[in-house]
Amino acid sequence: MSECIFCAIAAGTIPCTKVYENNHVLAFMDIGPISDGHTLVIPKPHYERLHECPPELLAETAKAIGLLADPVKRAVGADGYNVLCNTGAAAGQVVGHVHFHIIPRKSGDGVFNRWPAYKYPEGKAQQIAEKIKQNLKL
Ligand code: AMP
Ligand code: ZN
Repeated sequence: MSECIFCAIAAGTIPCTKVYENNHVLAFMDIGPISDGHTLVIPKPHYERLHECPPELLAETAKAIGLLADPVKRAVGADGYNVLCNTGAAAGQVVGHVHFHIIPRKSGDGVFNRWPAYKYPEGKAQQIAEKIKQNLKL
């Protein structure tokens, strides 16, 4: 995946502002932050989608997120953080290499000021839950 920018960053051929690295994962500052301290955590091998990433590698990535989240938050004096994995263009994925955003949040910062929650009509949540469970068996 030589044309993948995050592969190039993992290989060290494109620079980044690194905050953490081990054999499996790399964490670096997002070049277009939506809040101060916005950090990306990537598995080093190339997988485009979260669900394509092998479980062991996902576990390593989750471990790194758990390790980094509070240090990232404290570095900018934030009150909380969001962890986000945009998957697919419809969900806002621009870079086709699995990555997790750690986005520090301050009370009232308005970073995500739209959370369009609604209520299911009677029975719909159960119907969808059944489909999810069927898909899990495939
Ligand atoms: P996404 O929309 O989830 O695919 O997010 C991709 C993220 O990667 C964006 O927040 C970009 O600002 C960030 N990004 C793209 N290129 C670089 C780069 N060279 N170094 C650091 N972050 C980058
Ligand atoms: Zn890649």
